[in-house]
Amino acid sequence: MDTSPLAPGLYIVATPIGNLGDMTRRATDTLGRCDLVACEDTRVTGKLLNLLGLHKPMRRYDDHASDGAREALLAEMAVKAVALVSDAGTPLISDPGYRLVREARARGISVTSLPGASAVVTALSMAGLPTDRFLFAGFLPNKEKARGDVLTELSGVPATLAFYETGPRLVASLEAIAERLPGREVAVARELTKLHEECRSGSAAELAAHYSAQPPKGEIVLLIAPPGEAEAPEDDVIDAELRAALAEMSTSQAAGKVAKALGLDRKVLYARAMALKE
Ligand code: SAM
Repeated sequence: MDTSPLAPGLYIVATPIGNLGDMTRRATDTLGRCDLVACEDTRVTGKLLNLLGLHKPMRRYDDHASDGAREALLAEMAVKAVALVSDAGTPLISDPGYRLVREARARGISVTSLPGASAVVTALSMAGLPTDRFLFAGFLPNKEKARGDVLTELSGVPATLAFYETGPRLVASLEAIAERLPGREVAVARELTKLHEECRSGSAAELAAHYSAQPPKGEIVLLIAPPGEAEAPEDDVIDAELRAALAEMSTSQAAGKVAKALGLDRKVLYARAMALKE
């Protein structure tokens, strides 16, 4: 391992998202050689440094830090190598650092980025949805109306949509997707790089039913196929959705509900539901 001091500046260092084996050698070297580690939470980063056998001064930093605290850190970068890490994954990706990097660049401070794990890229690379274009939109809003508005705003974007999500909010988000973006294939990528890693695809309605029955634990990336890219659902998927709906409501309501969820024609589904009932 290279132990020579690093040139002064800001070093953006990606850390693992759940599997220590994803720490790159260059990231470990840089944390070992820097003068100061700026981090979201000194307990979380302290644990990582311990696991790597490193001892470094740490400083708490996020984008809500006072101007004075940011100024102090920027002043240090002129003479010291400052590494920026977040709790997990790549800094600045739904994590602090944007204001610091922007200011550092504006002042001519050297900025180096060390690539590594990021949940959004990990999910995209395993989900089997189109990756030629994707739009990452961070976390969906908590409030129902705002969440629906964001989904409607993005519904026409010709790209795979990617969001970060949490277990307790997943079903509500899937239900909103079923309502606002019917017929789109969705993937839920959960606990990536960890023991219980899972990537489950289906319609938003199917996934909402699954995760209502089995509330999800852990960290989640939610992906939505671009408009027009999803293949038409198989007949047995349509029939399963219709049977489930018919058990709870009238034929007309069932046809309407499934048509909306799968993006299919209501009249065709009504005829199919009538045939299923016979
Ligand atoms: N900067 C991080 C990155 O590059 O992935 C993301 C930080 S953001 C505050 C945390 C969110 O990322 C989690 O709520 C979850 O949506 C997603 N995430 C992080 N680790 C994950 C994992 N192992 N599996 C699935 N999603 C994960």
